[in-house]
Parts: sequence; C-alpha cells; structure tokens
Amino acid sequence: MTTSSQSKSNFNTRVKDLQNQLPDLLISEDVDDLKNYGRDWTRFIEPKPCAVVFPRSTEEVQSLVRWAKDKQQALVPSGGRTGLSGGAVAADGELVVSLDKMRNIISFNADDRLLHVQAGVTTAAVHAAAVEQGLFYPVDFASSGSSQIGGNVATNAGGIRVLRYGLTREQVRGLTVVTGTGERLDLNQGLIKNATGYDLRHLMIGSEGTLGIITEVTLALVSPPPPLGVMLLGLTGIGDIMPVFNACRHAGRLTAFEFFTQACVEQVCAAHGLKAPLDEVCDCYVLLEFEQATEADEAQMLAAFEQVLEAGYVIDGVLSQSDSQAEELWRYREWISESISHRTPYKNDVSVRIAQVTEFLQSLDQLVTEHYPEFEVLWYGHIGDGNLHMNVLRPEAMSVHDFHSHSERLTDVVYGEVARYKGSISAEHGVGILKKDWLHHSRSDAERALFMHIKQVFDPSGIMNPGKVI
Ligand SMILES: Cc1cc2nc3c(=O)[nH]c(=O)nc-3n(C[C@H](O)[C@H](O)[C@H](O)COP(=O)(O)OP(=O)(O)OC[C@H]3O[C@@H](n4cnc5c(N)ncnc54)[C@H](O)[C@@H]3O)c2cc1C
Repeated sequence: MTTSSQSKSNFNTRVKDLQNQLPDLLISEDVDDLKNYGRDWTRFIEPKPCAVVFPRSTEEVQSLVRWAKDKQQALVPSGGRTGLSGGAVAADGELVVSLDKMRNIISFNADDRLLHVQAGVTTAAVHAAAVEQGLFYPVDFASSGSSQIGGNVATNAGGIRVLRYGLTREQVRGLTVVTGTGERLDLNQGLIKNATGYDLRHLMIGSEGTLGIITEVTLALVSPPPPLGVMLLGLTGIGDIMPVFNACRHAGRLTAFEFFTQACVEQVCAAHGLKAPLDEVCDCYVLLEFEQATEADEAQMLAAFEQVLEAGYVIDGVLSQSDSQAEELWRYREWISESISHRTPYKNDVSVRIAQVTEFLQSLDQLVTEHYPEFEVLWYGHIGDGNLHMNVLRPEAMSVHDFHSHSERLTDVVYGEVARYKGSISAEHGVGILKKDWLHHSRSDAERALFMHIKQVFDPSGIMNPGKVI
C-alpha cells in the first residue's frame, strides 16, 4: 500500500504509470486540487493525496480500480465533499477518485417514475430533474447544492423529510457499483419486487466507499407534495417537545419536525443579520412542516397549536402565510451549520428511539455541562426521527488541535450515554475516520467481525477507502 512514508517522486512515478496505462483518464496533481479534493467538510485532518482522478464512465472506473488493485494503490471515492465524518478525506498518499465528471442524467422512465443518473450528479440537480418531470425527489438538506447522489447513497443520507419519506435508502431502486476487485455489479435494476436472495444494493448503501465505487444510481421519484405550511414554535423547555410533537402529528401529516435551541438562533441571527423569529425569547424551538392540501388541514394544525399553547408547552408561535415566509422560517434551522462553521465545531450526530429522545437530550446536556463547563454546546436536529446534532464550539483562544483532543474526550462521555440508551453514534453522517474508534458503542463484536469479512469479499486488496468505518 502506498503511504506517506514514500517519497513524492515515488508518487509521481505511480501517477505517471497510471497516465501511461490509462491515457484518456483526467488526472490532476495541482496543489489546490490536492488540498480541495483531499478533504471534506471536516477540517481536522490535513489532506495529502498523491493525485486526483476524474473518470467519466463506469468503464473508466473499472480500469482505474483494476490498475489500483495491481499496484496496491489506495483509493478514496469522493463526491461533493460535504461529508461530516472525514469519509472522503485522503491524508495518506491515497488517490482521490472524484465523480465530478460523471454528472449525466442518463434517462427518465415515466411509467416506472425512475430517474437514472451518474453518481456525480448533485442532489440539487436531482431535485431539478424531478421537478422537470412534474415529480419530486424528497431527500433534502442544507448541503444539497454540493453533495452528490453517489455520496448520499454511500452515507445513506437523511435530512429534513425523513419523517415523511424515509432516508436515501428508501429512494434507491438500482445501483451500478465497481467493487474493489474491479468487477461491475448492476444491482436490482429498477425493480420494486425482487425476492432473489441477498439484496447487495442495501449493503452498498451506507458503505462509505469501503466496498466499491458507486457509478450510477436509479432513483424512485414521487408525486409532488401538496402545498406545505411551516410553523415555528417557541417552547418552555426540552421536556415539552414530545407532547407538542404528538399533538401536531395527530392534527395532520408532518413532513418535518426539527428542533433547535436559543443559542442556535443567536448564531444564525448574528451571522446573517436576521431578527429573532418570535417576540418571545424561548428556551428552545421546533419547526414543523405539514401538508396543507385544504383549508381544513390548516385549521386542524392551528387547533393543535391552541391546544399546546393552552397546556403551557408552547409560549409563542408563527405560521407561514406564503412560500417566501415559509422559506424565511426554515432559515433559522437550515443556516445553523453554516453559521457556526468558522468556529470549527466538533459535531456529533446521534440517535435514540423517539420515545427516549428528550430524556436522552436532557441527560446528555447535563453530563456535558458537568464535565466541560467551559465549552459552548449547541443542540439541534431532526428530533422527529430521534436524531440530535450536538455541536461543540471551539473557544476562540484554543487551537484546532487542542480543541480536537478535548472534544474526543467529551465524545467518550457522549457515546457512553448513547450506548446506555442503545442508540446510534452516527444517525446519518456515517462513521468515516472521526467515529471509527467508537463504533463498538453501537455495533457488537460479532457485527464488527462480520463487517471485516464482508470488506474482505468485496475488496480483498484493501484498496477501497482504507482506514474508514472499520
Ligand atoms: C451544511 C451541511 C448540512 C448537512 N445536513 C445533512 C443532513 O441533514 N442529513 C445528512 O444525512 N447529511 C447532512 N450533511 C452531510 C453530508 O452532506 C451528507 O453526508 C452527504 O450525503 C455527503 O455527500 P457528498 O457527495 O458530499 O459525499 P462526500 O463527503 O464526498 O463523501 C462521503 C462518503 O461517501 C463516499 N463516497 C462519495 N461518493 C461516492 C461514490 N460515488 N461511491 C462510493 N463512495 C462514495 C466517500 O468516500 C465518503 O466516505 C450535511 C453537511 C453539511 C455541510
């Protein structure tokens, strides 16, 4: 395996050999490209790939993987590099395989409602392609302008509408994958029903580039939702979230139920010059989106609002009166991550069962305050899915390196609590490098041993994203 201990000239020889073997393959050794393509949204690890390649077809990916297997050259599949676990980081002389030149929408079939795309198509381009067909692709989140569908599949991305439509997994009807042996697999091929043994498609979903490179994806599109209403509610405390959630989901069909604290609101307002969303300053907020096909839908949701207001769970609230106002309300939730990125936050993305999520959040918040009173912690997340994002902000005076070490110790505390609740240490961001050492909190010894066997079958040479997940 090529490692950083080898000289730069050795890398150059490798790259020259690759160029000779595959003369049509686009290769870059440009310093800026190495830096940009060698990392993802995480900023803790210094990128150090040997080169970046830009294949244009599944066949070219196959030739590349066969070459890499021959030369024992580690590969890092790279999508939009919006990942939050270091899965697309190349810090040890790996060759980055960018899907940036695989951005074709291959076909659409109206009877099947299936969209077949190359893996480098951005999530936002899939949204646009669905709209062009009068349909809808429901997986959505703040990074969808840059993230790629291959990256979404490789991380089984979730986002804001999981509550209504499920994760990326639910939308994937077919995959083309090149495994670590250079073999092409066309998995499931658009079928709804296919009871012919192991569904390898689902093994690839969430595999974070450790088993193969996803080159094409077939996605199921759905009917566009009816008009949507958005309500932002200010709550007296975290303990009141669940009664509000239950009242609202009885009142109508929710498409999102998000949560954030006052500290998050302050960050977004400061970063973007927004005014506070409500007259009252509240402990925490929920933002809910619901289907509003008829006036009765709105009336029922307003009745639920009155009910939780009277019960004292909610202090104040606002209901969108137009699409643009709905968008404005969403900003308080969608802009949090970007508003705090300059503080290099240490992120955790954990989940527990819905029934336990508020108790878990309260207990975790107390533990973190006890152990690390000097850290500013921001909580937000897809609470309707039992999923919380914990963001610890780096104190301005602390170096990124020192902060990272402190945060890892904090992570031990957090993941210990996750294990106690039988939750997941990564709800939707993947394991990557950052969470690898804590995988035992969510996966048993037997499961992790099976992971190793599976990896061995698909990637016997260990060239596919080594050092990630397991
Ligand atoms: C502001 C912000 C908000 C976000 N919100 C959410 C959210 O709400 N929900 C959520 O789930 N995620 C969220 N994310 C995380 C991220 O956007 C997702 O994980 C996304 O799916 C990553 O896609 P990508 O193309 O950027 O992948 P990358 O970051 O490039 O890669 C992620 C992993 O997938 C692998 N990979 C990439 N492409 C391929 C391929 N073609 N074949 C095989 N492996 C591949 C990489 O090796 C890596 O392990 C957010 C990120 C940001 C920055």
